[in-house]
Amino acid sequence: MLNNTKTIYMDYQATTPVDQRVFDVMAPYFTKHFGNASSSVHSYGWIAEEAVKQAREGVADILGATSPSEIVFTSGATESNNLAILGVARRYPKKGRHLITAATEHKAVLDPCKAWEAEGGSVTYLEVNSEGIISLEQLRKAITPGTILISIMHANNEIGVIQPMAEIGQIARAAGVLFHTDATQSAGKIPFNVEDIPVDLASMSGHKIYGPKGIGVLYVRRRGPRVSLMPLLFGGGHESGRRSGTLNVPGIVGFQAALRLSNQERVQEASRVLKLRNKLWNNLNAQLEGLSLNGSDRHRLPGNLNFCVENLEVSRLFQEIPHIAISSKSACSSDSGTPSHVLTALGRSPEQAQSALRIGIGRFTTEEEVAKVANDLSAAIRKVKETSTQFTP
Ligand SMILES: *Cc1c(COP(=O)(O)O)cnc(C)c1O
Repeated sequence: MLNNTKTIYMDYQATTPVDQRVFDVMAPYFTKHFGNASSSVHSYGWIAEEAVKQAREGVADILGATSPSEIVFTSGATESNNLAILGVARRYPKKGRHLITAATEHKAVLDPCKAWEAEGGSVTYLEVNSEGIISLEQLRKAITPGTILISIMHANNEIGVIQPMAEIGQIARAAGVLFHTDATQSAGKIPFNVEDIPVDLASMSGHKIYGPKGIGVLYVRRRGPRVSLMPLLFGGGHESGRRSGTLNVPGIVGFQAALRLSNQERVQEASRVLKLRNKLWNNLNAQLEGLSLNGSDRHRLPGNLNFCVENLEVSRLFQEIPHIAISSKSACSSDSGTPSHVLTALGRSPEQAQSALRIGIGRFTTEEEVAKVANDLSAAIRKVKETSTQFTP
């Protein structure tokens, strides 16, 4: 077995550990309270059903939803994004068949959009500026009478860049177009709720907010407008027919606990994480030349760093830092040989995009870890660059 007890984890955009407090809340629902939430004739079922009911009410409350029925539990943000995009597109074909999204979205948004194109629909992929932010003017121009959905992520998983949600929501409302956001990276980290941000659908995932893997939420607005979905999964009619499948009771309980903790501790945690990130970035820049930040500095998640290192052979770097868990690009795409579509959308060349590093700082990152990573990473980068001979970008 591989051992990682000495490896410093700084890849919090890929996933996060389950907070012990979340785990403790979940544990009884694996063993003692294992009932099926749909078993309505005995106490095992009632206990599970009650736990789901309370978790749904809690999530709705934290997100500012008007009704618990606006919360659909899924297997994760990938499913939530698929359900939002294909569920809306397939539900309103008479209104139109055109979707709008952005080039820097997660594959779990881009791929269902491609699937929709294969079904005969059309999709506009908005470009972003060099900071990673879409143009509201281009968004307005892209809307046609046949546009049914705008899907723009709140915060980007690779570069942490935050899009102007309020403005996008206003544009969508004014045009009578539904607005979906992939809020997987923003929920619990920066202010996100569906009262202040006029979204109609929003995707989230447990394992990005110190909760378990395999559980997600899709928020679906019920009033003003009432959003209806064509389901992706058919079966027992769970989640009011929007998502069949036996409910993941421990996951649902854990999601609620994770979202609640993240929101309660958000302000303090964000300021602590931001200080650590700034410290790391300043320290790296003091020791190295030729670093350039990818994406906006100002409109950015507190825990995200993503930068290009001039002329760096990233594969050789990773051999030098087995004790540091950082990422060269999104962990979410399996085609690791190709340059990041997010970085190329910012205007980076494929070579530059291949020399990018993503560092994710989070709840359990310490000052000592930041200091060690700054020093060890700098030394490793210098070593790789000094011994690099034939590599020309
Ligand atoms: C991680 C992530 C996803 C995928 O979430 P899963 O729950 O792992 O399916 C989707 N979008 C963004 C922005 C993410 O960071």
